[in-house]
Amino acid sequence: MTLVPASPIARSDTDALLSKPYIGRFAPSPSGPLHFGSLIAALGSYLQAKANQGKWLVRIEDIDPPREVAGADKAILASLEQYGLTWDGPVRYQSQQTEHYEYVLTQLRQQALTYACQCTRAMIKQQGGLYLGTCRHLGLTDKNNAIRLHVKQGITEFTDKLQGRVKINPAMANEDFIIKRKDGLYAYNLAVTLDDIDQGITEVVRGADLLEPTARQIGLMQLLNAPVPDYVHLPLAVTKPGFKLSKQNHAPAISDQDIRQTTWRALAFLGQQPPKALMEEPQENILNWAISNWQLDKVAHQTEQLLTTEPTT
Ligand code: GLU
Repeated sequence: MTLVPASPIARSDTDALLSKPYIGRFAPSPSGPLHFGSLIAALGSYLQAKANQGKWLVRIEDIDPPREVAGADKAILASLEQYGLTWDGPVRYQSQQTEHYEYVLTQLRQQALTYACQCTRAMIKQQGGLYLGTCRHLGLTDKNNAIRLHVKQGITEFTDKLQGRVKINPAMANEDFIIKRKDGLYAYNLAVTLDDIDQGITEVVRGADLLEPTARQIGLMQLLNAPVPDYVHLPLAVTKPGFKLSKQNHAPAISDQDIRQTTWRALAFLGQQPPKALMEEPQENILNWAISNWQLDKVAHQTEQLLTTEPTT
């Protein structure tokens, strides 16, 4: 017997039915304005989401007040809007998720997967730089101490869709890492993992400076029985080897004047070979061209890429 569908289903609909919906994200810390380096991460994650008919979420990772700059969140969002990088749904602020972080932390604590640690950075440095589990069996109280996750089997390898097979030094992979700091702030690895799970992120596209912590994040997801997303780590824009454009290095904010040229240069950096004439088109056309022609495989498969032109125009 042959089954004939009642009404023919278009190929794209069939594809959509078969594959899980794509949800990507851009997750800046509000420690400074959007600069050319973070624009690469924003644009790369946006194009990968849109080329996959997916949603693109924006999450402000404001869990580290000492490193934040007042108003940087608004400035980042304004730049994204100016560049036409429109996000789906409301912006999530991590500072509003702390109850959830505490809830999961309590669950981990109840499963005896956490412990308090009083070691200082200097003490750990003296022991060779990696934490050796010194406080694991001391039964210290959480108050005024850092909280570490007891890593029973660290992730030593994973696959990145751009960087290929990534191997992590086993000692580092098995290190019991901090999930809540001594000063009471939640650690990046805990917050980012819980939000990626909670927001149903299917693919994380970000800069290659976060390649190493990915192993910890995957480990935590597995511990929580959550599905692990795909990972794409984009090359970092460097002015010379090892010198990435970053807020810490005081990279200048992206231009609010030369938006089309800056977008064009970001596309070129991402290996998309935009035609010269595209630079003269309205921003909307540039983004539409970029979505239709987006090829992840054209992005350099390396963790750093030298900037050939000045980051500011
Ligand atoms: N908030 C981090 C940063 O701005 C990025 C986190 C992530 O993409 O996982 O460096």
